[in-house]
Amino acid sequence: MKYIRQKRNGLYMLLLSVVMMVLAGGCGMKKTEKVTCADTAMGTIVQQTLYVQRENSEITLNEIMELLDSLEKDTLSWREETSEVYSINSSSEHTGYVLSEKMRQYLEIIRDVWMQSNGAFDVTVGEVTGLWGIDEWQQKEVCDYFQLPAVEELQAALKNSGFEKIKIEGKQIYMPAHIQLDLGAVGKGIACDEVRTLLSENESVTAAVISIGGSVLTYGEKPDGSSWKVAIQHPRIEGETIAVLQLKGDWSISTSGDYERYVEKDGKRYHHIIDPKTGYPADSGLISVTIVSESGILSDALSTACFVLGKDAGLELAEEYGVQVYMVDKDLNVYMTEGMDKLLVLR
Ligand code: FAD
Ligand code: MG
Repeated sequence: MKYIRQKRNGLYMLLLSVVMMVLAGGCGMKKTEKVTCADTAMGTIVQQTLYVQRENSEITLNEIMELLDSLEKDTLSWREETSEVYSINSSSEHTGYVLSEKMRQYLEIIRDVWMQSNGAFDVTVGEVTGLWGIDEWQQKEVCDYFQLPAVEELQAALKNSGFEKIKIEGKQIYMPAHIQLDLGAVGKGIACDEVRTLLSENESVTAAVISIGGSVLTYGEKPDGSSWKVAIQHPRIEGETIAVLQLKGDWSISTSGDYERYVEKDGKRYHHIIDPKTGYPADSGLISVTIVSESGILSDALSTACFVLGKDAGLELAEEYGVQVYMVDKDLNVYMTEGMDKLLVLR
C-alpha cells in the first residue's frame, strides 16, 4: 500500500509507503503485522517499523507522525510562532513565562547536563547557531555563498548566551532578552521519549523500532524474540556502517557527528556542533559520538555534550550518567565504555 501525505504546514511533500506482512496467525490468535513507513519531521527522515495486532495499523503510524508534527509545532520549534520554545524566546525578562509541566521537566534535565558537562552542552547557543546559519546547511548550494560569521558578532552572541543567565522559579522562567533557546540537540531524543509513551498506551503495538534522524528508539520484543540491530553510520564513508549494536527491549540511541550537517569553505569543514566556550564548531578530535540510554532526551543531550568535550571528559560524563558511549576520532580510532563493547555485534 502506498500513499502520499501532505504535511499540514506545507513544508514537505511526504512519501509514506506502508508494507504489511502477516507474521503470525491462526485460530484464536491475534495476527501480528509488521508495518513500516518512511516520512519526514523535525527537518529529518523518520523511519518506523511497528509490530501491531490490529487491522488498521496505518492509524498508529499516522498517530506517531501527528505526535512528531505537534511536538515540533506546539512545543520545540524555535522558528514556528505557535511553539512554546518560540514563546519562551520572545518572553519578557521581567514578567517571565509560565512553563508547561513537560517543558519544565525537559529544562531540568537540560540544566543538569549543562552543569555536569561544565557548559559544553548549552541550549542557549541559539544566537550563535543563528549567526552560523546552521538551519540552511541542508541545502547543497549553501557552500557557494557561505560566509564565516564575523568574530565580533560571535563574541557578542557568546556574551549573550549561557544557561547561568536563565532563572527558573517553580514554573516561571525568566530569560534575558538576547537569549535564544535552541533545542536542536535534544529535540529528536525528546521525540523518542514521547513516542515510547504513546506506544506504551497502545496495547496493539507489541514492538517497534523508530529512527528520527540521528536518534533511534527500540521498543518491546520482536515476535520471533530476536534482538534489535541498530547500525552506526561510518562518519567518513557515506552509506556504510562502522558498527552494529544488538539490543533487547526499550532503548534510545543517539548519534552526533560532523558529517551530516556541515559546510566546507577553503578546504575546511564547519559542522553544526558548537563549542559554547569559543562559538566555533567543536574541535575536540571526535567526529562521531553515539550514546545508548533508556532516556531519549539524555542520549541526545549526552551525544552532543560528549562530542564537544572530547574522548576523556566524554567517557567520564557517560560513566557519571551510567550510559554507554561509542566515540570515533579523526583518525577513526574508536573509544567506548565496557557496556558498549558488550552490545557490539559488528565492528
Ligand atoms: P545534535 O548533536 O543532537 O545537535 C546539534 C544541534 O544542537 C545543532 O544543530 C544546534 O542546533 C544545537 N547545538 C549546537 N551546539 C550545541 C551545544 N554545544 N549545546 C547544545 N546545543 C547545541 N532542520 C531543518 O533543516 N529544517 C527544519 O525545518 C528543521 N526543523 C526542526 C525542528 C525541530 C523541532 C528540531 C528538534 C529540529 C529541526 N531541524 C530542522 C534539525 C535541527 O536544525 C538540527 O540540525 C538537528 O536537531 C541536529 O540534530 P543532530 O541529532 O544531528 O545533532
Ligand atoms: Mg544531541
